[in-house]
Amino acid sequence: MNNTEEVFYQCPHCWEEVSILVDTSHDMVQYIEDCEVCCNPIEFTVKVSLGQIIDFQATTLGQ
Ligand SMILES: [Zn+2]
Repeated sequence: MNNTEEVFYQCPHCWEEVSILVDTSHDMVQYIEDCEVCCNPIEFTVKVSLGQIIDFQATTLGQ
């Protein structure tokens, strides 16, 4: 099954609001992706409970 949810967040580099598709089939996801606006790397930490996103953080690397 392909469970994804679209999440809107503010880039910690350029402060643009961007959306990302998050895989909600895992309880805890952490990954790094480049901002599609400013191309700086963002570290995402997502916590999921019963298929619902309960915590979403987009931070600069090393924070
Ligand atoms: Zn950005």
